Amino acid sequence: MKVVVLVGGVGGARFLLGVKAALGMPAVGEPEQPSEHEVTAVVNVGDDIWLHGLRVCPDLDTCMYTLGGGIDPDKGWGRQDETWSVKEELAAYGADPTWFGLGDRDIATHLVRSRMLRAGYPLSAVTEALCDRWRPGVRLLPVTDDRVETHVAIEDPETGDPRAVHFQEWWVRYQAKPPAHAIVPVGAEEAELCEPVRNALAEADVVLVAPSNPVVSIGTLLAVPGFREALRNSPAPVVGLSPIIGGRPLRGMADACLAAIGVDSTAEAVARHYGSRKQDSTGILDGWLVHTDDSATVPGVQVRSVPLLMSDVAATAEMAKAAFDLAEQAG
Ligand code: GDP
Ligand code: CA
Repeated sequence: MKVVVLVGGVGGARFLLGVKAALGMPAVGEPEQPSEHEVTAVVNVGDDIWLHGLRVCPDLDTCMYTLGGGIDPDKGWGRQDETWSVKEELAAYGADPTWFGLGDRDIATHLVRSRMLRAGYPLSAVTEALCDRWRPGVRLLPVTDDRVETHVAIEDPETGDPRAVHFQEWWVRYQAKPPAHAIVPVGAEEAELCEPVRNALAEADVVLVAPSNPVVSIGTLLAVPGFREALRNSPAPVVGLSPIIGGRPLRGMADACLAAIGVDSTAEAVARHYGSRKQDSTGILDGWLVHTDDSATVPGVQVRSVPLLMSDVAATAEMAKAAFDLAEQAG
């Protein structure tokens, strides 16, 4: 089976662990094995940022470290057994920005990536090279090789002046507290869809939309010209999993993003925002999974409720299996 999964960072990476387990692929730390299944993750690049001359790709790295066994299990991002000497030294120089934590081990990844990008390699090739070390067992593809960075229009918390900041500044520095007046994937209009993404969607048996942030993770993928069409034209059924449980996002501030685009923080509102592939001219969903006590009515989309808490890999694998089942019915 050829499975394509649309993902952001932490939520997407955890979901990918469950997809692999559901398909009987080796768990983190187990030896590699040939599999009859093929999993391709299309990863958000809107969080990417140049810092101190280094290209940082938070969502690609979270997926790579999580699947490759290098993630900090407590934080859910960054490297395990991390140290912070470089960050301290940069702060001693007063080198901005000081609010983004680049760990020493993590920096090695960014050094290799930045060097390859400067030598002219596209991000997809760089990611493949980095994955040579981490062996994530799924193909990690940036949605585009071009630079797309999410920016957020806010009022500056100190001066009150209108200001557009990089998503990371809003999210990490300001904890998404200043209300977002707009969330814009800068560069998306000129970006080109990564060709292997187009091919993966054309050849897929199932497409899953991970319970990732609908605005700044999945929304950014959809903003890349050609992606939505490729998804809508895929022969595979498309099933999404709700990131909203009981009217709130789990472990995240996704509600702040949904508010900015005028979508309620409910499983139904998010599904309606994604839309029905059959009934809406721009819709992407055939099926939608909501959490046990949640419900959703979405014309043209088959909805089912199952437990959607990714408390461990086994529970997440059950979610993936439910998504495969629904895909069979909804396809
Ligand atoms: P990020 O890029 O690190 O923010 O990660 P993603 O965009 O991939 O995922 C973040 C989203 O995952 C959040 O909006 C949460 O609502 C959602 N999420 C996190 N944990 C869970 C979980 O256990 N179950 C479900 N259904 N959603 C979750
Ligand atoms: Ca992210």
